[in-house]
Amino acid sequence: MKPFAIAVHGGAGTILPHLLTPEKEVAYKSALRDAILAGEKILAANGSSLDAVEAAVKVLEDCPLFNAGKGAVFNAAGGHEMDAAIMNGSDKRCGAVAGVSGVKNPVALARAVMEKTEHVLLIGQGAEAFAKANHFAMESDDYFFDAFRHEQWLQAKAEDKMQLDHSENKEKKFGTVGAVAIDRSGNLAAATSTGGMTNKKFGRVGDTPIIGVGTYANNNTCAISCTGHGEYFMKEVVAYDVSCLMEYKNCSLEEACEMVVQQKLKAIGGEGGLIAVDKNGNLCLPFNSAGMYRGFVKEGEEPIVAIYQ
Ligand code: ASP
Repeated sequence: MKPFAIAVHGGAGTILPHLLTPEKEVAYKSALRDAILAGEKILAANGSSLDAVEAAVKVLEDCPLFNAGKGAVFNAAGGHEMDAAIMNGSDKRCGAVAGVSGVKNPVALARAVMEKTEHVLLIGQGAEAFAKANHFAMESDDYFFDAFRHEQWLQAKAEDKMQLDHSENKEKKFGTVGAVAIDRSGNLAAATSTGGMTNKKFGRVGDTPIIGVGTYANNNTCAISCTGHGEYFMKEVVAYDVSCLMEYKNCSLEEACEMVVQQKLKAIGGEGGLIAVDKNGNLCLPFNSAGMYRGFVKEGEEPIVAIYQ
């Protein structure tokens, strides 16, 4: 039996101390802690890393502070299109959904794609029909409405730009969410869920639901969940690149993360970060932005949550 570990994130970007009130900071930290505890509870009862990452991400999807599930940002049409993915490191089974509306917990739907279909990625109306056929909880527009998020969208719309939920010099309150874990059997898993980028158009899909980019797990190397400006993460195939550096170049998790997040992504202007756990239970939570909502716990230790550098 190996010691378990789990890490979570709630998005990266221009998250600066003066942009968050002390009350907000407490609220973010407590939500991150709740997510860690949901995963830890499963791992401590000898549950699987797959169950743990799904449970942790669901907690963050249900929290309006983050850009996923209930807190998903507005797209250009004034709706919410969500993306999510999950992957199991022992057999590389994976599932994902993109551009889904009305689904309460997209990460659970991604898992159903993995377990109940022969496919990896379902999109839009097809994915929603699959959700309804499998009796997934659906919610109305009211559930996903948030006044601050709406204001954020109106500003982005007025300037006709797509914006990362927490970049730029405006107050940003939300972020994509994710979790990675190793269980006592040494199995790795990763899950990520997002509303994407504010004011996104034309069915834009980012890195989150693309296996090997925003989400990846492989028992021979590591499990990864990313957050940041998706287009850049897609160009650098971020999650798989970290895994490949470990597999083919024998880099440590830390070396591989450093190379991808601080060098390769930065070189092309890609803002963001990731959380990672390797097959030996080492954790790494690098980011090249001002902050990243993040936290982790290792078996037998106290959870740690942090926001800034
Ligand atoms: N990576 C997400 C996307 O580009 C956004 C985020 O991490 O906040 O869709």
